[in-house]
Amino acid sequence: MANIYKKIYREIKKYKTIIIARHIGADPDALGSQFALRELIKNKFPNKNVYAIGNPSNRFKFMGILDKIEEFDKKSTLLIVLDTPDIKRIDGINLEQYDNIIKIDHHPFVDKFASIELIDDNASSTSQLILEFVFKNRLSLTTTIAQNLYIGIVSDTGRFMHSYTSGRTFELVNKLLKKTSLDFTSLYEPLYMRPLSEIRFQGYIYENMEVTENGVAYIKITEELLKEYEVDSASSGNIISELKCIDEILIWIFLTEDKKSNLIRANIRSRGPIINEIAAVYGGGGHKFASGARLTSWNQADNLIKDLELIAEEFQSERIENSN
Ligand code: AMP
Repeated sequence: MANIYKKIYREIKKYKTIIIARHIGADPDALGSQFALRELIKNKFPNKNVYAIGNPSNRFKFMGILDKIEEFDKKSTLLIVLDTPDIKRIDGINLEQYDNIIKIDHHPFVDKFASIELIDDNASSTSQLILEFVFKNRLSLTTTIAQNLYIGIVSDTGRFMHSYTSGRTFELVNKLLKKTSLDFTSLYEPLYMRPLSEIRFQGYIYENMEVTENGVAYIKITEELLKEYEVDSASSGNIISELKCIDEILIWIFLTEDKKSNLIRANIRSRGPIINEIAAVYGGGGHKFASGARLTSWNQADNLIKDLELIAEEFQSERIENSN
C-alpha cells in the first residue's frame, strides 16, 4: 500500500494542470479531501494549476470555495477522482481525453476508470486516505488542510462512531493534531449548525415514520412536505444518521421526492443487515451499512422496502438461531 501513495505523488509531480473531482451530492468527506488535496499540491508545487471542481454545497461552503475552469487542454491534464467508486456519480466530469486518471476512494469497488486506483474500503473516509498520503510523502500540513481533513473524518465516521473507524483512524488524527495543534472543538459549530426548520422536520419524521414487524423504519417525504417544513431535499441526508441507536429499528430508509429530477432519493442505513447489495439491485450502492439509490417511482420504493424487510427478517432469524 505504501508504494501506491508514492506512485500517486510521482504522477502529480509530472503534470502542470490537475483537476480534482468527487461525487455528486457533495458531503464533508468529499469536499474536505478535495480542498485538502488541492492545497497540499499547490503548497508543494506553486506553479501547478490545481482545480477542485463540482457543484457547490451551500451548507458546507465554510470549508472552501470550488473552482470554475474555463478552457484547458484535457490531453495534458491529470484528473484525480476522490470518494467516488462509480462513473455515474462523478460530479461534472466526462472522463474521456484526460492524459491520466487517478482514483482515491474508500467505497467498495464498482467501476474501474483510472490507471491508478487507491481503494481501501476498510478506511473510515477518503480524508483518512489523504492523511495517509500526507504522511507517506512527508508533506506539510497547514491549519486549513488539517481542518478540512478533520471535518471529513469526523463527518464520515459520525464522530468516530460508525464501523471502519479504527485504531489507524485515531493514530492518524492524533498525528494530525500533534503536528498542527488544531483547535478542533471550534469546528463542530459550523459543521453541525442547522436551521430550526430542519429540526422541526426531524420531529415530523420521528412522529410519522412507519416501523415494520422486523424493524425496518421508513418514511415517504413528498415535495409538498418539504415545502411545508421549509426544508430542501438535502435535509433527509442530514437527519438519517440520527436514527442509529433506536432499539426497535434495524434498518431505516428515507424516501425523498425530487420532482425536478423526476426521482425519489433513498437514503438507507443499517445496524446489522448488509444493505448495499439490495441498493445495487435498484441501481444504487454504497457501504455495507450506509447506502443510497435513486428510484423512479413510489412503486419501486415500496418494493425496496419489501426487500429490506426480507433481509431484516433473515437477520432477526439468524440472531435468534445463534442465541439458542
Ligand atoms: P447517502 O444516503 O446519500 O448519504 O449515501 C450513503 C452512501 O450510499 C454513500 O456512500 C454513497 O456513495 C452511496 N450512494 C448514495 N446514493 C447512491 C446512488 N444513487 N448510487 C450509488 N451509490 C449511492
